[in-house]
Amino acid sequence: VETPHWLFGDQLGPHFTAPGGGGPRKASPVVMIEARSVFRRRRFHRAKAHLVLSAMRHRAAELGERVRYVRARTYREGLREAVGDAEVTVHRPTSRAAMALVSALPNVRVLDARGFLVPREEFGQWVAGRSDAQLRQEDFYRWVRRRHGLLMEGDEPAGGRWNLDHDNRLPPPSGAERLDTPAPYRPREDAIDDEVRADLDRWEREGEVEFVGRDGPRLFPADRREARTALRRFLTHRLADFGAYEDAVLAADPVMSHSLLSSSLNLGLLDPWECVAGAEAAWRAGEVPLNSAEGFVRQIAGWREYVWQLYWHFGEEYRDRNALHHTAELPDWFLELDAEAVTARCLSTVLAQVRDTGWTHHIPRLMVLGSHALQSGWDPRAVTDWFHRCFVDGYDWVMLPNVVGMSQYADGGRMTTKPYTSGGAYLNRMTDLCGPCAYRPDHRTGGRACPFTAGYWAFLHRHRERLVHNPRMARPVHGLDRLSDLDELLREHRRNVGRTP
Ligand code: FAD
Repeated sequence: VETPHWLFGDQLGPHFTAPGGGGPRKASPVVMIEARSVFRRRRFHRAKAHLVLSAMRHRAAELGERVRYVRARTYREGLREAVGDAEVTVHRPTSRAAMALVSALPNVRVLDARGFLVPREEFGQWVAGRSDAQLRQEDFYRWVRRRHGLLMEGDEPAGGRWNLDHDNRLPPPSGAERLDTPAPYRPREDAIDDEVRADLDRWEREGEVEFVGRDGPRLFPADRREARTALRRFLTHRLADFGAYEDAVLAADPVMSHSLLSSSLNLGLLDPWECVAGAEAAWRAGEVPLNSAEGFVRQIAGWREYVWQLYWHFGEEYRDRNALHHTAELPDWFLELDAEAVTARCLSTVLAQVRDTGWTHHIPRLMVLGSHALQSGWDPRAVTDWFHRCFVDGYDWVMLPNVVGMSQYADGGRMTTKPYTSGGAYLNRMTDLCGPCAYRPDHRTGGRACPFTAGYWAFLHRHRERLVHNPRMARPVHGLDRLSDLDELLREHRRNVGRTP
């Protein structure tokens, strides 16, 4: 009798059932468990719950008779119902909690992780002998490029430079409301989505679960075919413009040239290799410029892999890091995604995107939502939980480094060399959000003072002792001494805390 193989809800592509590495064989039965406890524990965005359930059920439909699909209260109960005490295999799950669960179950044999480019042992070799200060993304990324021969010409990076970020930081084209880029692929819902929506309605009605956000037509791929179509469309029609405007934000064009592939990658519908190989092939065929191909490869082979490895490397305590001692609670307007209550146009625009789609690109996450949380001194654990619940691509492994480390600097600089936050001037340069806003980016005080400008200086002032010793922050910190209105600004910031911006 073949050993059954268990698929978690983020292991949905063919590479999770492909033979090899002591894993499932061609004929191995498959077990999938839809555990309701996951949705009861936390208030997720409804579009996220919809996407995950839809994707699991689509996979089950594809596997047909081969799969035993169990709806249960918990994973433990579901597994018992599916296989009793019989042995099952599973690829390494992506969260510490799930890893602890499968390790504690005597009948589960855990196989290597799939869905990432770098195996754990290889990362171990890279880490060996490096201090924390040397675990930088840029070095890791170059190592991955060399190791996988990605965008390489012999021993040299294609085009002679490793890093083309300099070409990829353009502000949005002046006067344009949208980028002149073909629209992204959007899927069409089917009967499985109808069934998911009916289930979610019923659970909500019966008071079993509560959600946040709107569950409009599903925007992200739920099966392999849709995910492949999305990837192909991105590589063929949209990658060319990816690079230059990667960091720019347009209010009326939330997606710009971003790939929208994060949820498909994180559900396991796409393998990272096919994404980066496709981007390299498009460049080699002369279809896209190098800065776009490199920028995209960097996101996946650099950032995504780095974040995945750091999640395991930093250990469980990382979750509770709070180097800046930030303890304020998240306000209701933020928790409820109440964009209408917010005056600051950047926050209200981005919050509405999250409410309506469960997605925004990386700059709104980092420099609007995350930066405001940091300036307001919100508890980083609560901020992490919020991002995890509200984003369609949010999972424990990807949230912890991105929010605790990158966005909230709660690890005191283990992951990044400086806190990511800014005043209104940066937002005004890189977005078109400030123009009609009721606040002015260059006002530090007074009725029209931009909350980001006042918040930025107040943040530097509050953490002056720590930041003045950071070579990348010393200059801005010394800028505090040149502010003639610092006292007034700080008074105003204190008044602002607790008010809806
Ligand atoms: P693109 O801009 O097209 O980038 C291509 C791909 O690169 C993405 O699909 C993603 O798979 C990968 N990628 C890029 N940056 C990162 C990163 N920092 N970490 C992991 N993968 C990366 N990404 C998530 O997948 N899930 C999250 O929960 C998540 N939370 C974030 C929270 C904060 C505060 C910040 C600053 C970033 C977060 N990111 C997260 C990273 C990034 O913002 C998203 O991956 C990206 O915006 C998804 O949109 P896209 O697919 O169009 O990405």
